[in-house]
Amino acid sequence: MAKPIFTEIQSKKLKKLGILNSFDLLLHLPTRYIDETKIELIKNIKPGSMHQIEAKIISIEVSYRPRKNLTVYVKDISGDLKLRFMNFYPSQIKQFEEGKIVRIYGEIKLNSFLFEMIHPQYEFVSIDTPLKNFYTPVYQATEGLSQKLIFKLVQKVFEQEDLEKKSPDYFGNLYKEKLFPSLVESLKIIHKPKKEYEKILFDEKKSIFHQRLIYDELLAHQLFFRGKYHENKSYKSKPILYSDNIHREFLNNLEFELTNQQQSVFTEIKNDLSQSYPMYRLLQGDVGSGKTVVATMAALQTINSGFQVAFLAPTEILAEQHFEKLDLWLTKLGIKVELLTGSMKPRLKAKSYEKIKNGEAELIVGTHALIQEKVDFKFIGFYIIDEQHRFGVKQRLALRKKSLLNKNYEPHQLMMSATPIPRTLAMSYFADMDISIINEMPPGRQSITTKVFSSEKRNEILVTINQHCLNNNQVYWVCPLIEESETLQLETAEKTFADLSNYFVSHKVGLIHGRLPTNDKKEIMEDFKNNKIKIIVATTVIEVGVDVPNATLMVIENAERMGLSQLHQLRGRIGRGHKKSICILLYKKKLSDLAKQRLKVIYENIDGFKIAEEDLKLRGPGELLGLRQSGLPSLRIADLERDHTLLFTAKKDADSLIEKFPSESLLHIDRWHRNYKDVGRS
Ligand code: ADP
Ligand code: MG
Repeated sequence: MAKPIFTEIQSKKLKKLGILNSFDLLLHLPTRYIDETKIELIKNIKPGSMHQIEAKIISIEVSYRPRKNLTVYVKDISGDLKLRFMNFYPSQIKQFEEGKIVRIYGEIKLNSFLFEMIHPQYEFVSIDTPLKNFYTPVYQATEGLSQKLIFKLVQKVFEQEDLEKKSPDYFGNLYKEKLFPSLVESLKIIHKPKKEYEKILFDEKKSIFHQRLIYDELLAHQLFFRGKYHENKSYKSKPILYSDNIHREFLNNLEFELTNQQQSVFTEIKNDLSQSYPMYRLLQGDVGSGKTVVATMAALQTINSGFQVAFLAPTEILAEQHFEKLDLWLTKLGIKVELLTGSMKPRLKAKSYEKIKNGEAELIVGTHALIQEKVDFKFIGFYIIDEQHRFGVKQRLALRKKSLLNKNYEPHQLMMSATPIPRTLAMSYFADMDISIINEMPPGRQSITTKVFSSEKRNEILVTINQHCLNNNQVYWVCPLIEESETLQLETAEKTFADLSNYFVSHKVGLIHGRLPTNDKKEIMEDFKNNKIKIIVATTVIEVGVDVPNATLMVIENAERMGLSQLHQLRGRIGRGHKKSICILLYKKKLSDLAKQRLKVIYENIDGFKIAEEDLKLRGPGELLGLRQSGLPSLRIADLERDHTLLFTAKKDADSLIEKFPSESLLHIDRWHRNYKDVGRS
């Protein structure tokens, strides 16, 4: 048997870095490189950058007051330099003997007109000690696993004779056609690049060898999600056929006409539903673009064919709003709409369960409670998931699994998202779904004017608000998001509430925040909707979906702290009625450059997709997609912003590779498996 490459202790330590096998170790790429291939003269080195020099020790000085300090004076043919150590062992003092030659690597600092290096890396050498002929890789290290040891272990892995055989290039000639180097060659060179290469390409992960690996990682990502996409077509669903009558009746009752885009998106969904495999579609549309009515028409088609529909919302307030609206629209057509939320009284809940089970409830609107074990549908045919970005990938995959376990057919799924994402990016990143987009607003919307003020102008704004309320309009006052502390956020909201209540004696002020009991929240929102509360002070809980057309003024405090998509979502709460709306963004001085740019974008743009594109430029796709919260597999090497061209290439290649090389596609995903184990690679 071959001797294991790592000792047991080493294996344990490697595990801390997420490295489970020798291939994982090879994928533990250097974060940067040190150039120890040349010696520079002291007179030529510049403060602020890294240099290697070779010099003779002239003298040393040790002092313990005011602070522990070991100073070593060195000299080469061009000048003098001071090395300074604040942490050192007594044995180190002895090492630095006068006359010895020392090779030093570090950053030069100018300290009271003298050049010095603090805690440089050093090594004692003789005049003829050869220089390195490769750039030294720097790894993320951990206790007991130093840079040097990682380097040694990596090189040990490369010495395995069968490495090439164990790590072949899959997919026929794919890489040759792309002029990519082989996998093993790429790894070898990245871990030990010869000095003939341009160092900066390696530091910035732009070498062709890095490109090869980045492509591979992104390809694994696409193969995984496109695999899911194709796998989906092998599942069975009940085809749900469209019949005109009920839809005509629905549309006749509706107080508005569908926009062209609403119609064409519905056509896409209508066709999907009639297939014998499950629909798996994402509907993207800006806040207020009218996604709900489209989803309702799809629900109608399903119910009309004799199946139940579940409509999931991320919060109770939103679920109830949907319930009210759908109940209003659909009861007229003889359809039974039911509500199920976590905070309902047990007795009512039990009743709901019962109706869901015996099929009396046809459309069930609810929160997470709807995907719990206890809920047993008679014949669920279709899930609608609103604000899908609030549910993670895991939840959405779990939902599929659950419905699959229960019966031997799978319900259709429509996900809706009001976080606009540039189309190309969405198509790449949500590669397991089909995508529909609504990017026009229903007609008759009043424009929203956005104003940006320093928070010092708060008092002037109070005058505007007063006038606004006297004209029988309502106001949102959004308190700052304080990420570090929910308690602090609450305090701010309560203080603002108290201030505004004192100031506006004749207009009722309300306060709503995440910590309130659900029933209180409901009551307050109800009072706001009915125009009893004129001014509502809110934390960012109102971000999602709230629909109060008479609210036409919004003040957002500390707007500079919020992300673009959040600001856009918040602003989407106003401009919903027939009156002109105003959004006032307050900021605290002094603004950072990024904050300035963000406020400029939100000030100049109202179109969510345009804002998303700008956001992409400012923050990159990772942040934009909220990858961290979404539970999507994290990427080890690729950076979606830097590498988006490779992402599109990988996306383009994935479908044909799955078809031509199905088993190699799975092997390729497995090679990168660490990224996928969290999302339940099956
Ligand atoms: P969102 O896409 O943010 O979920 P909604 O579905 O809540 O948007 O729609 C926002 C508002 O616009 C609702 O009051 C809805 O009834 C209304 N609406 C939807 N479609 C149209 C339309 N074609 N014409 C006029 N109003 C519409
Ligand atoms: Mg909505």
